[in-house]
Amino acid sequence: MTTIGFIGLGVMGAPMAANLVRAGHDVVGYNRSPGKVAALVESGGRGADTVADAVRGADVVITMLPDSPDVEEVVLGEDGVLAHASEGTIHVDASTIRPDVARAVADAARARGVRPLDAPVSGGEAGAVDGVLSIMVGGDAADLEEVRPVLEAVGRTIVHVGPSGAGQTVKAANQLIVAGNLQLVAEALVFLDAHGVDLEPAVEVLGGGLAGSTVLERKAAGMLSRSFAPGFRVDLHHKDLGIVLDAARAAGVAVPVGSQVADLVASLRAQGGGGLDHSALLLQVERLSGRDTELGREA
Ligand code: NAD
Repeated sequence: MTTIGFIGLGVMGAPMAANLVRAGHDVVGYNRSPGKVAALVESGGRGADTVADAVRGADVVITMLPDSPDVEEVVLGEDGVLAHASEGTIHVDASTIRPDVARAVADAARARGVRPLDAPVSGGEAGAVDGVLSIMVGGDAADLEEVRPVLEAVGRTIVHVGPSGAGQTVKAANQLIVAGNLQLVAEALVFLDAHGVDLEPAVEVLGGGLAGSTVLERKAAGMLSRSFAPGFRVDLHHKDLGIVLDAARAAGVAVPVGSQVADLVASLRAQGGGGLDHSALLLQVERLSGRDTELGREA
């Protein structure tokens, strides 16, 4: 049994923490809005009122927060993770943040004797609930091996991809692929619908060929039933595509299709779709094609 401080009990963090409890770990959870801590306590975890309470005495600290500034505040802040973690603690940041910020956070951790891993995840809420996330890990490979039994309670594909920051770089590539794929699935569905094709069998046969993908498998059904409750919010994908574009520019790499999809996601958000699941890109294609419904009524 490992004592785990878990900070950030949202769409992803809550089921991840619950799976760690189920695997027999002692999980101490903290979240800014306390209702979410109560849910963890109900599932057998312990609740903390502050970051310090979650971190003190923990062998492993996991953060699952929205964005880079949140991780900077919670980890580097005056009363944050590094101020209270014991020497030798492994800090796993599962949030999706900028690779350069992940490197800076890792440097600060090492300076305090804390062992950092950037370990963003893919697989969505369903993957978190089922404990089958894909986890891309940057940092010291030996630290990953030590914490792997803990991560196996939340993930199935857990791969060391390089030094600190590399996990976030791979996650950025993941988000580039997912966004492009989603946009094209949305375009294909609007195209098929406009031609009067029956969409369910079309999706079934597309899924069996080279056009098949996890995005098609997991997201087409929601598009067809017009259920756009998140899931993965457009706001978060917008944040991730910002990370992709900045990191691509820093490396001098062109991502022309990625740039266009980033614009389409930004536009969907500007039209009020930020709180919808990213599969709501469908609504945007419908709007561009004059076949639109009201964005706000689709949540
Ligand atoms: P979320 O907004 O549902 O959860 C974040 C949680 O962190 C919230 O409960 C919020 O109250 C809490 N929080 C924010 N600031 C805090 C602070 N300063 N101190 C304590 N708690 C704080 O987001 P999510 O969907 O769970 O995503 C979390 C991260 O995982 C993001 O970086 C996201 O990009 C990434 N991610 C999400 C998905 C998905 O499908 N939702 C999939 C893979 C990766």
